[in-house]
Amino acid sequence: MGEANAHYYATRDPLGEEGDFTTAPEISQMFGEMVGAALADCWDRAGRPENAIYAELGPGRGTLATDALRVMAQAGLNPEAHFVETSPVLRELQRQRHPSAGWHSSLVDIPGDGPLLLVANEFFDALPIRQWVGDEERRVALEGDRFIFTNDGLIREESSLREAVARDISAGIASRGGAALIVDYGHLRSAIGDTLQAVQGHRYADVLANPGEQDLTSHVDFETLARATEGTGVATDGPVEQGQWLEALGIGQRTAALTKASPNRAAEFVAAKVRLCDSSAMGSLFKVMAIRHGDWPAPVGLER
Ligand code: SAH
Repeated sequence: MGEANAHYYATRDPLGEEGDFTTAPEISQMFGEMVGAALADCWDRAGRPENAIYAELGPGRGTLATDALRVMAQAGLNPEAHFVETSPVLRELQRQRHPSAGWHSSLVDIPGDGPLLLVANEFFDALPIRQWVGDEERRVALEGDRFIFTNDGLIREESSLREAVARDISAGIASRGGAALIVDYGHLRSAIGDTLQAVQGHRYADVLANPGEQDLTSHVDFETLARATEGTGVATDGPVEQGQWLEALGIGQRTAALTKASPNRAAEFVAAKVRLCDSSAMGSLFKVMAIRHGDWPAPVGLER
């Protein structure tokens, strides 16, 4: 999964109608605006510390960063931007929109000691997992000219890489301060089940077909991510459903304001809000969780 996705992302921009899948920031500017507002508000209530860093993991086309940084600037927050991105194709797209950002292969390389305002949207789902049937790993083997799974049954998934990244976020925030928002599709509680999926051209595909040419993801187990941060000196908030979180941040008011400013685009704004918030679309499947320094407030919409 790791090798296939590394090739996949290194060789294309997979996002948008022409690509394989569409993410929340590509649906509407409102998504990045809500992220920016949530992080700016946290920073404000933390006493507006200096040298804050906007850090994003897997920033795609840089769209979320554009919308979030615009809202942050309106709140008097102008952080340096640092991106964790491995794909040269996507780094180039990000560079066109954010020429002064810094790029890193790992978030432990982000320079300075200022607090992190971090976001990862649809990043964890792309990091590789392992599957187990009982005590036996479910592996991929070659049979003739096609790949097959070595075993089947009740499948349990785990991802040491996802847990390691959650711990890296925690360690960074524990030493520098700040807050991180993790947004992804997945479940609140750990559960048994096979969630590995492949998407190509906006359709589900055979997960073992065309390695490196289709997007491989699996559900993010938020309970395990939160547990991975235990003992690192940070707090976690949520997870809550994306729809509920966006509503708490005022996406309804933002939809109304955009509609008032551009009445000819009203249908587009309303449709985007429905797609991001409704249970029939992304609203329930996607979850939001925060990791924050103990001295920082819980982000809006994620308070206990
Ligand atoms: N956050 C963006 C893009 C999501 S797609 C959006 O919401 O639109 C996943 C992103 O993570 C891409 O930018 C991809 O290149 C990046 N990525 C995937 N695996 C990665 C890895 N192991 N290290 C760093 N970046 C990775």
